[in-house]
Amino acid sequence: MMKKFPKKSLAADEVFEKLRNYASKDLDPHTGRMWGHYYATGRSDLIDLTRKVLLEFMDKTMLDFTTYPSILKMENDVVAMIADLMNGGDEVAGNFTYGGTESIMLTVKAARDLFRKEKNRTPEIVLPSTAHPAFYKSAEFLGLKVIRVDVDPETFKASVESINEVLSDRIAMIVGSAPNYPFGVMDDIKGLSDLAVDQKLWLHVDACMGFVLPFFRKLGESIPPFDFSVEGVSSISVDLHKYGYTPRGASVILYRSTDLRINHIFVMASWPGYPLVNTAVLSTRSAGTLAASWATLHYLGEEGYLKLSEKILKAKKRLLRGLPGIGFRILGKPESSLLAFTSTELNLFTLAKEMERKGWYIQAQPGSKPLDYPKSIHLSISPYHHEIVDTFLNDLRIAVERVKKMPELDVMDVLRDIDLSKDLIESIGIKNGELPEDMTMINELIHLIPPELVEEIFRKVVNEEIFRVSKG
Ligand SMILES: *Cc1c(COP(=O)(O)O)cnc(C)c1O
Repeated sequence: MMKKFPKKSLAADEVFEKLRNYASKDLDPHTGRMWGHYYATGRSDLIDLTRKVLLEFMDKTMLDFTTYPSILKMENDVVAMIADLMNGGDEVAGNFTYGGTESIMLTVKAARDLFRKEKNRTPEIVLPSTAHPAFYKSAEFLGLKVIRVDVDPETFKASVESINEVLSDRIAMIVGSAPNYPFGVMDDIKGLSDLAVDQKLWLHVDACMGFVLPFFRKLGESIPPFDFSVEGVSSISVDLHKYGYTPRGASVILYRSTDLRINHIFVMASWPGYPLVNTAVLSTRSAGTLAASWATLHYLGEEGYLKLSEKILKAKKRLLRGLPGIGFRILGKPESSLLAFTSTELNLFTLAKEMERKGWYIQAQPGSKPLDYPKSIHLSISPYHHEIVDTFLNDLRIAVERVKKMPELDVMDVLRDIDLSKDLIESIGIKNGELPEDMTMINELIHLIPPELVEEIFRKVVNEEIFRVSKG
């Protein structure tokens, strides 16, 4: 039977008890043992502050900027501060959004609408293969055709030459990452900018993970130019809820000028209600994360971010030495706070599972055999990791030894016996909406089978098995 709408009120402590019970198997982001999805500073004072500010502004909505004057002030302040960080001048315009995906969707819409003003055909977007899925999602939602271009297989940087080859008068936007998510490597933004200037194209720089880069540069790291100091850059997305250490639901989209930004704004005055003006995809949303972002940026300041960045760099140096010491190969030369490593000696997905048993979260990247993308493990380095990187490397070394002794997983053997339908879904352990304990098999399959088939199966599984109404 389906879970029913509750008839009786629950007491507050009962509500908490039930929810905490639900959360009993959750990973705890505050242990600092997650190398992805959470960016631990080790600063409990910061968490205390952002929680208080978030709650104080929680009930105010960003829907209508005429309602609460503080919200407009905070948004324009936050945008100005990030524009400054990205070397933007007074002409830069931008908005606060609820995440990188929303920032990206807005700029893709802006570029599409500018394109449509001049041309009456399907707009295309050129994406290096390392570009974030948010661009594919935006293209799907907004009706653009994606042209995917392989990156250099050694450096994992976008190939300016290959991008040049696919350019035409149908292109609405080209994209570079600073850095890309999978490998933490920065694309050659200057090279892409030369193309953009030469052919009058919109160049978007995805710096969703790039918040740390200006601070890394100040600390002496060699960070190539990637922001508005590069002439051809039209727009930049910068997430605050990653390396800005704000609560989740915070990002900024920046444009070189208001002339570009105007194309992302939505206005609707032809209904009987109030005129709706949106500078974001979402409409009603809590001002809590905006206020908490304003608070975090001021509470830490450049001083605070430099100290935290220093810790990331120290942890990164230990990893760059320690990981090859245990037999891993770092992919590319990551300039940023992210990296990926691989191995031909052992099963990386079994390793991830083994580390999970010790309370570590490391992120399996299945890659794709048909597309020639390597299997790897991704690490997003947080400031707090500086304190525990040696323990981590030690646990990793032990896990490696253990995995090497395990019997080799024969994926082909499993595949031979099943049909790529419901059989497959059950055989990989998805039953009654429950995810499998061990993702090793699923990751192996994702690596092996064509990505179009992975996408088709996932859509079906998510629709029919995972997101199902709860049973009573
Ligand atoms: C996280 C990320 C995004 C998407 O951001 P969300 O906040 O998850 O919506 C886009 N690009 C890169 C490089 C990212 O790391």
